[in-house]
Amino acid sequence: MPLPIPRLMLRVPGRSVGEHCVRYISTRGKAPPLGFEEVMLSGLAPDGGLYMPEEWPRLLDATLFALRGAPYGEVAFRVMAPFIGDAVPEAELRRMIAGAYGSFAHAAVTPLVQLAPDHWLLELFHGPTLAFKDVAMQLLVRLLDGSLERRSDRATLVCATSGDTGAAAVEAFKNSAQCSLFVLHPHGRVSEVQRRQMTTVNAPSVHNVAIEGNFDDCQAIVKALFADRAFRAKVKLSGVNSINWARLLAQAVYYVYAGLSLGAPLREMSFCVPTGNFGNVFAAYVAWKLGLPVERLIVATNANNILHRVLTTGRYERAGVMPTMSPSMDIEVSSNFERLLFDASDRDPALVRKLMTKLSETGSFALPAKTMREITRRFTSGSTDETATLAAIASAFSATGELLDPHTAVAYAVAAKTAGRSGPKITLSTAHPAKFPDAVEKACGVRPRLPSRLAGLLDRREAFDLLPNDVETVKQHILTRSDR
Ligand SMILES: *Cc1c(COP(=O)(O)O)cnc(C)c1O
Repeated sequence: MPLPIPRLMLRVPGRSVGEHCVRYISTRGKAPPLGFEEVMLSGLAPDGGLYMPEEWPRLLDATLFALRGAPYGEVAFRVMAPFIGDAVPEAELRRMIAGAYGSFAHAAVTPLVQLAPDHWLLELFHGPTLAFKDVAMQLLVRLLDGSLERRSDRATLVCATSGDTGAAAVEAFKNSAQCSLFVLHPHGRVSEVQRRQMTTVNAPSVHNVAIEGNFDDCQAIVKALFADRAFRAKVKLSGVNSINWARLLAQAVYYVYAGLSLGAPLREMSFCVPTGNFGNVFAAYVAWKLGLPVERLIVATNANNILHRVLTTGRYERAGVMPTMSPSMDIEVSSNFERLLFDASDRDPALVRKLMTKLSETGSFALPAKTMREITRRFTSGSTDETATLAAIASAFSATGELLDPHTAVAYAVAAKTAGRSGPKITLSTAHPAKFPDAVEKACGVRPRLPSRLAGLLDRREAFDLLPNDVETVKQHILTRSDR
């Protein structure tokens, strides 16, 4: 039975009422509003801000009711359609969703596992590279290819990676018809499984580059490429990092899907999210804005805890990064936090500009009291150090029999410390334990095995180019290799 999609979209002058074009605005207020496809293709706004929907669409409780028990793909369509509007035809969006999640190893795509009477684990690692980044990346490539094909255009995508993002991007873009992907990883500094997931994919659209440097060097090169306007236009440069709105949108889906399984829209629940760049937990905020009854969003950080500090003290302050066993959460600043700042300050772009300038000039800023109050109505946080992470892996294993990867373990430890007021608590599991076998074995004595679908990874031939830590060399490399 077809479900009604509420039509709460914006009306744009010059368009008939029947069409709905969703508009996106920059958090810094100095860039023109754009439609969904332009936002997806451009990533960062030209004023340095991040795009946000001009208004939050809302699903009716009746729609949520009707979605209980629906398959993942149906929930995905209902959650994303109000943010995409007419930019992608319905049949095409449904086909993309089916294609993206058909390859997941679990029929529920993101299944729930019960840990305790009121505590669940939401497993996001059943995609091809065993980390939650697959959920968004598998859809993003289809959305990008679709848009570019309609415009008879192509794009060159560049990303820097310390592991998970690159692997998920390579796996997603290996079949892209419209994009060339360049992934920069620090030579000799990613785990063997992560490197092989990138370098053993033999596809003409994918180019792996090992940089003689560290992850920050890779990131600096990518920034420099984006800053070069002429180069950017020439290769039609675009990004796949977690500030891309389309990625966040694809992630909002599993919050709604899990919530419906555990009693939404009748029951409130809390989510505990292992957090780095604030993309995943912001997707939970999007789900809440859309109508999911959320009691608490719990931000779990490792020892790199800038977010835990801001949520407890109101001061956002860089403090350097130290390497931990949950490397995908080793960040100094969390880009997507700017989106929350914008929304929680009654969407005041002047305030966002002021605070972001302060951050880049002095390395810190203080949240206005009103914004802090607004944020902490929904968000709470906790931080877990290395010792406590290992202890969490051990205690989860002995209490539940589940093996947790170190990122998930950080959240598990924080969830244990943070009492919900009511309703179920859902901890997000962002990577398969076999991606981090050494930490898991050290913690609980069990070495997790790679799922059989990844067998052969360690024998396949690798291909990558080794380049010096030099922007011009990388530019030339991309110019000669990208297909445009
Ligand atoms: C990327 C990643 C995270 C952090 O997610 P954000 O959206 O950056 O907050 C956590 N765990 C794993 C395994 C990841 O790959």
